Amino acid sequence: MSLSNTQCTKVLSNSYVYRLETESFQKMVKFWGATLVGVGDVREGLANEFRHLPLAVSLAVSHPPIAMGLVRKKTVTAYTNSFPAVDAVLEKVQKRTVSYLRSLGWKAFAIPPDTDRYDPSFAARLYPLFPHKTAATCAGLGWIGKNGLLVTPEYGARLSWATVLTDAPLTASDNPYTRGQCNKCTRCVDICPAAAITPDEWVRGNCGPKINVTACAEQLRKNHSVLGTYICGLCVLACPLHR
Ligand code: SF4
Ligand code: SF4
Repeated sequence: MSLSNTQCTKVLSNSYVYRLETESFQKMVKFWGATLVGVGDVREGLANEFRHLPLAVSLAVSHPPIAMGLVRKKTVTAYTNSFPAVDAVLEKVQKRTVSYLRSLGWKAFAIPPDTDRYDPSFAARLYPLFPHKTAATCAGLGWIGKNGLLVTPEYGARLSWATVLTDAPLTASDNPYTRGQCNKCTRCVDICPAAAITPDEWVRGNCGPKINVTACAEQLRKNHSVLGTYICGLCVLACPLHR
């Protein structure tokens, strides 16, 4: 699935009619518990299965202060992004968003925060067809950092994400991210104990940051032998963008 540099700047023809409503909608979703809410036009990048849902509502909930995710044992320090309470809030917000849009007669399809690979439902087979990164970058909420994660100016990579695809007449962002904004920063590159991150800036349409997933997985295995859990997350911890 590839996206051109221009697709996200397209605005639905009737968007101006709903501009105010879109802002109200975003405020309402934040009131329900979302930290960030954005709407992106993702028409050109959709798999055939989702062609009838041209907009993506990107939802994010921030993780607690960084110290709460720190795990230290012996010589290993890691950051866990597993926050069940955060995921619970995100799922609740996503369900309310879907229900709200459907109650007004529009279609809404939820791509959940963490895809359960063993979910046998038909819908679960569609989840991998649409990444949260596409929704968030098209919605102008963040870009793909050198660490390969969605990063935002306010929270770095310390967010959990979910997406709702819809045909509701919301106004898409006219400020999508089409390239990374990490600039000269290489903190995640420098801190990675597996040398799995290269200092390449993401550009939409290119392959994006090249993360050596094999090296990263090997590091997680090493950490598991000390911590008893497959975590590392130093590339999240190092990002200077989080508050
Ligand atoms: S999780 Fe750890 S090993 Fe994997 S890319 Fe990030 S810093 Fe490197
Ligand atoms: S640590 Fe620096 S280079 Fe890495 S994602 Fe954050 S801003 Fe980008």
